[in-house]
Amino acid sequence: MKYLIQKGFTLRFTISLLVIIAILLTMLTSITSAVQVNRATLIGNYLQNNEQYAKKLASNTNELLVTMQQNINAIAKISGRSQEMDAQLFDDLFQENTQYFNSIVVADADRIVRALSPHTIGIEVGDQLTSAQSKMAVSLKAPFISNPYRATTGRYIILISAPIVDASGAYQGFVGGTIYLEDKNVLSTMLKEHFFGNGSYVYVVEKNGAIIFHPDKQRIGKSVISNPVVKNVLMKKSGSQRVTNSEGGQFFAGYAYEPSSSWGIISQTPTSVIDKPLHDLIKRVLLASLPFLLLILILGWWVASRIAKPLNTLAQFSDQATLGSARPQNVPDIKSAYYEVRLLSQSVKIAFQHLNQDLTQLRNEAGVDELTGLANRRTLDTVLQQWTEYHVPFAVILIDIDHFKGVNDTYGHVLGDQVLKHLAQLMRNVSLEGDLCFRYGGEEFGILVQRSGPREAGVVAERLRKEMERTVNPIGVPVTISAGVAAYPEHGRSPRDLILKADEALYRSKTGGRNRVTLSGEAEVKQVRSGR
Ligand code: GH3
Ligand code: MG
Ligand code: MG
Repeated sequence: MKYLIQKGFTLRFTISLLVIIAILLTMLTSITSAVQVNRATLIGNYLQNNEQYAKKLASNTNELLVTMQQNINAIAKISGRSQEMDAQLFDDLFQENTQYFNSIVVADADRIVRALSPHTIGIEVGDQLTSAQSKMAVSLKAPFISNPYRATTGRYIILISAPIVDASGAYQGFVGGTIYLEDKNVLSTMLKEHFFGNGSYVYVVEKNGAIIFHPDKQRIGKSVISNPVVKNVLMKKSGSQRVTNSEGGQFFAGYAYEPSSSWGIISQTPTSVIDKPLHDLIKRVLLASLPFLLLILILGWWVASRIAKPLNTLAQFSDQATLGSARPQNVPDIKSAYYEVRLLSQSVKIAFQHLNQDLTQLRNEAGVDELTGLANRRTLDTVLQQWTEYHVPFAVILIDIDHFKGVNDTYGHVLGDQVLKHLAQLMRNVSLEGDLCFRYGGEEFGILVQRSGPREAGVVAERLRKEMERTVNPIGVPVTISAGVAAYPEHGRSPRDLILKADEALYRSKTGGRNRVTLSGEAEVKQVRSGR
């Protein structure tokens, strides 16, 4: 029976697995560190770029607002000089300012509209302005940029105004230029240019945290004061940081404060922009290391094979030696560069020799001859004892191979052994169930033929002799046997006597010329001829 051993992992597989794990871990480490370094650089770059850009836009905005304020101041000055505003002159002035203002209004100290352009804005000359900002313009009597507010017309606007003072220095009203925050305006024109096509955008908040410019018009007017970046910029700080906006988007944001208007300008890029370059990086590293990976794998496989192959041979051998049906003759010769493998091979060799000796001894004790598998001397003695005791009639054939020494000398002991086995097989063939084939020792054999007198046994012996003479044996040249036969109870009553008688008869076969069978007690050397 074979003991079932679960195959599990072979050594080669395990070592290869180790190699793969080692490579993967190495790659993981190098990729992780590469990604980390690149990530930090990319993040740093995006933060810095956005901050720089916000600063630049803040400075542009400042310049723009200064220009706009100057233009309004200039219109106010002209208005102060001429009592009644010439409609044509005003239109000309407005035309020059269309790039800056969505509309320009001239109002008197009672906020009654004196002139306006364009005429399509929803109010007329003679209307009174009612917004808080227009009231403020009158009460302040100074240039100012308003907070965003809903104007009388319903528009969400910013007012840049300048007081009108006449030649005597008396306050006459104000000129107000507007920016329509929800329409195309000077700010949106300037800020909209900021598009990298990677999701970056700019937005502007006024000093209370309401959005006054945003590429998404829906968001204009909304308060984003809770946004940490907005908080910072309204505390007049500039800088950059990662931020999650009110809609859950993650950004690298740079921000700058614009002092003349107290606005904050925020430029931001979605954090997802670094994903692609990092993915590309990982891909590149993987691709670049693939050949090395394969090389190391092959190397690992080769080393593993070198270690595993002799071990495998040894394991197979041990398996066969201990459990196999045909026991191997020799321990395989293991040549390995590894000390442990050689040590193991040697141990297996020694263990195998011990095992062989033990097995021989065991078989001996079990009554079986190791070489031929026939009964041994011990068994013969026991059976002889029993049969004589129970008076079973039987005959003993003693057999000796002729000139066997010569066979050994010419063909060697290994082939000699084969001849012994060959004879043993022929003995089995000619004997019947109940007979006992045995090896007496050396090249001497015998058969106890049950319920047989000397003649029947002689026939058996003769058949064996002929078979031996006729059949091709392992050395290729005929090998003959001589035999002697004695029967119980005719020739002897004790085992000892019987063997002596059979041996005597055998001796006579030898001296009579060999290759013959002699019956005990027969005076003449006689060959038995008939079959059984
Ligand atoms: P003969 O019996 O015909 O007189 O000649 P012989 O050469 O057979 O006689 P002898 O008894 O001198 O030689 C027996 C030889 O058998 C000696 C020994 O080398 C050989 N022998 C005994 N046992 C074994 C064995 O187990 N294997 C092999 N190969 N040879 C054996
Ligand atoms: Mg002999
Ligand atoms: Mg002999």
